[in-house]
Amino acid sequence: MRLHHTKHHQTYVDKLNVALEPYPDLAKQTIEELLRDVTKIPEVVRQAVINNGGGHYNHCRFWESINPNTGELREQTITTFEKAFINLTGFKEQFKTAALGHFGSGWVWVVVDASQLKIVTSANQNTPWSNGPSMGRASQIPILTLDLWEHAYYLKYQNRRADYVDAFFKIINWEQVEKNIANQQEML
Ligand code: MN
Repeated sequence: MRLHHTKHHQTYVDKLNVALEPYPDLAKQTIEELLRDVTKIPEVVRQAVINNGGGHYNHCRFWESINPNTGELREQTITTFEKAFINLTGFKEQFKTAALGHFGSGWVWVVVDASQLKIVTSANQNTPWSNGPSMGRASQIPILTLDLWEHAYYLKYQNRRADYVDAFFKIINWEQVEKNIANQQEML
C-alpha cells in the first residue's frame, strides 16, 4: 500500500501537474471541477487530464474507502444497503461479481445514481463521471471504491483478485461510506 501510494498515486499527481502547467486557469480548479465535464478541457491535454487527474481522484477515493479500524456498522447504513442490495451479503456478492467480471484495469464503485445505490465499474482511470454531464446524464456520485489495477494487488495476491476483494470487505471504512452518502451533493 505504501508503494501504491508513494509511487503509483504520486506519478498521476506529477503527470497531471505537468499536463496543466501551460493552463494556469485549469490548474487552479479542484480535481472535481476538472473532471466533472472533460469536454471543457483543451483537446491536446484532455486525455492526459482524464488519465492522470482520474488517477489522482480515484486513488483519493480509494484511500478513504479503507481503514483497518472500521468500527461498528450502524443500523442506518445497513438499512440503506438493504434497500439497494437486499442485504449486506447481497451487496458483497454483487460487488465481488462486478470486480471479478471487470476485464483489465479499472475500478469497481458503489455510486448514487438517480438517488439509488448502484455498483458500477470504470475502465482505466475513468471516474464515475465519465458518463456524466458531458454525455447529457446526471453524474454518478462515488460512495466507495476498490482499485482493480493489478498494481493494487499483485505483490500480495498475484493473480487472485477474488482474495483481494474478500480482504477489502474486512476493512471497508463504513464511517466514510456514511459520510459520503450523507454529503453526496458535496461529492459531485
Ligand atoms: Mn492504483
